[in-house]
Amino acid sequence: MKLRSVLVANRGEIAVRIIRAAKALGIRTVQVYSAADADMLAVKLADEAIEIGPPAPKKSYLNIEAVIAAAKRANVDAVHPGYGFLSENGDFADAVVAAGLIFIGPSGDAIRLLGDKVAARTVAEKAGVPTVPGSDGRISSLTEALAVTERTGFPVMIKAAAGGGGRGIRIANDPAELETQFPQASAEALASFGDGGLYLEKVITRARHVEVQILGDGMDVVHCYERECSLQRRRQKVWEEAPSFLVPPEVRQKLCDSAVALARSVGYRGAGTVEYLYDDETREFYFIEVNTRIQVEHPVTEMITGIDLVEEMFRIAAGASLSVVQSDIAVKGHAIECRINAEDPRRGFMPAPGRIERLDVPEGEGIRFDTMLYEGYVIPPFYDSLLGKLIVWGEDRTACLARLSQALSQLKIKGVPTTIPLHRALAADAQIAKGAFHTRFLETWLETEFAADGGRAAEVA
Ligand code: ADP
Ligand code: ADP
Ligand code: MG
Repeated sequence: MKLRSVLVANRGEIAVRIIRAAKALGIRTVQVYSAADADMLAVKLADEAIEIGPPAPKKSYLNIEAVIAAAKRANVDAVHPGYGFLSENGDFADAVVAAGLIFIGPSGDAIRLLGDKVAARTVAEKAGVPTVPGSDGRISSLTEALAVTERTGFPVMIKAAAGGGGRGIRIANDPAELETQFPQASAEALASFGDGGLYLEKVITRARHVEVQILGDGMDVVHCYERECSLQRRRQKVWEEAPSFLVPPEVRQKLCDSAVALARSVGYRGAGTVEYLYDDETREFYFIEVNTRIQVEHPVTEMITGIDLVEEMFRIAAGASLSVVQSDIAVKGHAIECRINAEDPRRGFMPAPGRIERLDVPEGEGIRFDTMLYEGYVIPPFYDSLLGKLIVWGEDRTACLARLSQALSQLKIKGVPTTIPLHRALAADAQIAKGAFHTRFLETWLETEFAADGGRAAEVA
C-alpha cells in the first residue's frame, strides 16, 4: 500500500519534524491547528492546514471528534499523533481506524495494554524482563499499600497507572507519609488522568534512566540501542545522550534484548521506547514503562544509527516490513540533545511566552536544530514550553561535548528567556564531562552550582 497523505495531529517542533519526514517520502501533509496556532511553523510548511478549535487543548488537540472530522474533510490516508496529546490514547487510535484511516502507531489494544503502567509491568514480567520491586497490580487501599512496603521497605513511589510526562508520582519515606499521600495521590490521579488507579514501586536511589528504542512491524522487532536520560528536573528529561556510555557492554546487550523480548511478546507494530532504571552499583536494571509513540529525544538515536525513525513509522504504517535487520544497525559516535524551553532557569524555570525577536541557528557537520521557531513568531501561552532541541554528534563523547559547547554559543534566541544558559553551564561542567550523574543529580546541581552563578561562568568561557 502507498501512503499518499497524512494529517499531523500535533503542534510545535514535532509537527514540523513529521512534515519533514512526510515530504522526504513524497506524502502530502495536512496540519491541524487551534485558534492560537494559526501562525505556527508547521501550518506554514504543510500543504494544507485546518483549524480544529479554540486554544484550550481539550477543545482542539485533545478533541478526538474534531481531529477525525478534519482528517475526513482533508481526505487523508493516515494520521500521525506525534507525542503528548492523543498519541497514547487507544480510543483515538481505534477512532482513526473506524474512520477508515491508518493510525501511525500501534493498535488501540496495544496502546491500552502498554500505556497502563500496571498492565505493562505484568507484560514485562511475563516476557522475563525485571521490573522495579513493588505492588503486583493496582493498590486499592492503604492497608494493601502498607503490606507491599513490608516487602520493599521505604522509600516508595506512589505512581498513577495512567501517569505520564513526569506527573502523577509521589515519594513516601515512611508509613505516616504513605498514609497522608495515598488518598491525595488517588484523588489527583483521577482528576488529572480520569483514572485513579495507583501502584507502588520501591525508590531506586542513584539510578540512571536508560531507555531502548524499538521498531516493530508486527512480525519482527529490532532495537536501535539505548539512550541515557538521567538529567531530569521534576522527572522530566532536560538533556539526553546516546549511547549510554557507562552501562557495561554485557549489561547493555541484555537490556536491548529484554526490550525486544517484551515488544515481541505483544507483536509490537511501530516505533516505541522501553524505559528502565539502571543501578550503577548492583549493575541491575529494572523496567519502568513503555512509551508507545515517537519520543522527544528520538534524534540522538537517529544521529548515532543513521536511521530516520519517523520515516520508519510511515513505512511500517503503510504495511511495509522493517527496512533494517538487527545486524545492519550499528552505533557510530556519540550524540547529545539539549531541550530548549521558553523558561527562565534563573527564576525557577518560570515559563515565559513572547515574541522571537531574533534567531541565530548554529550550522555545520554533526549539528541539528529541530524547532518550531522563526523570527517574529509569537509563542502562545497555552502549551508546553519546548521551543526546540539542539542535537549534536561527535566521533566520541568528548568530541561531542566540545562541539556542543561551540554550537550552544552560536545558538541565539532573543525575545524570550530560554534554558540555553542552563545547557551552556552543563556542557562546561566537570561532573557532566565525567558522566558522574544520576536521576537526582540535576535538581541538586541547580540548587548549588547553578544557583551560585546562574551559569555565568560558562557564558564568560
Ligand atoms: P519523552 O519520554 O518523549 O521525553 P515525556 O514523558 O517528556 O516524553 O512527554 C512528552 C510530551 O508529552 C511532553 O510534552 C509531556 O508534557 C507530554 N505528556 C506525556 N504524557 C502525558 C500525559 N499523560 N498527559 C499530558 N501530557 C503528557
Ligand atoms: P512518566 O510516565 O511520567 O515518564 P516514569 O515512570 O517513566 O514516569 O518515571 C519518570 C522518572 O521518575 C524516571 O525517569 C525516574 O527519574 C523517576 N522514577 C520513576 N520510577 C522510579 C523509581 N522506582 N525509583 C526512582 N526513580 C524513579
Ligand atoms: Mg517515562
